[in-house]
Amino acid sequence: MQLRPNILQQTLETAITFLYPAQCRVCEKQLGLESLPYVCDACWNDIHFIEPSWCEMCGIPNTEGRCDACAITPPPYGKLRTIAYYEAALQQAIHLFKFEKRTSLAKPLAQLTMEHIADDCNIVEYDFILPIPIHKKRLRERGFNQATLLANEIAKTTGIQVVTDALVRYRNTSPQSSLDRDARQTNIIGVFELQQEEVVRNKRILVLDDVYTTGATVREAVKILWNADPIEIDVLTLARALDPE
Ligand SMILES: [Zn+2]
Ligand SMILES: [Zn+2]
Repeated sequence: MQLRPNILQQTLETAITFLYPAQCRVCEKQLGLESLPYVCDACWNDIHFIEPSWCEMCGIPNTEGRCDACAITPPPYGKLRTIAYYEAALQQAIHLFKFEKRTSLAKPLAQLTMEHIADDCNIVEYDFILPIPIHKKRLRERGFNQATLLANEIAKTTGIQVVTDALVRYRNTSPQSSLDRDARQTNIIGVFELQQEEVVRNKRILVLDDVYTTGATVREAVKILWNADPIEIDVLTLARALDPE
């Protein structure tokens, strides 16, 4: 289920930006004719992308081959790739997008993803993108699933299908950001349910989420998806927290 973006909210947003020229949310410089709202070009161009080398499985940076954790316990997905670090301009942009409902940022964030995606993660080779679902209560409060909006923007350019109903989040949880690492892992167990096994069976799936912190959410979602016998599951996230605690 995907609710329509709130048109009134967007119109209001545009009107306010017009009446009160904004400051960059990162460096506080007065915004002029920038390519994006809310963040100046200098800050946007300063996004800290994740460059090779990284763990071939979990994508943790500054690692050759497999990291120690993946060597001991391989993750449930084939590989996880992330675009950039969750800091500065990207952190502000995701915050504005997700919590302040500036949905106009979905497009530039999706463009950023496609421009900087790892060479070994070719979107068109998957059968579909599966955005990590949010609970329907949170969907009602927020009005949208940020991962679905990103996936829809990626789909507009690549033509890939976006599947939002196969996996559902049927139990609402405390926000993961309020918990420590161990609590996150326990908090997430059993929250997802497979609703359309036939959609997933024999498919190559790219699971998409906005921010990777401890990975507890994506691991749990992937684990549940395997119950429907897909061929392959990889994970793509827009941002990766610097110090996952
Ligand atoms: Zn700035
Ligand atoms: Zn690893």
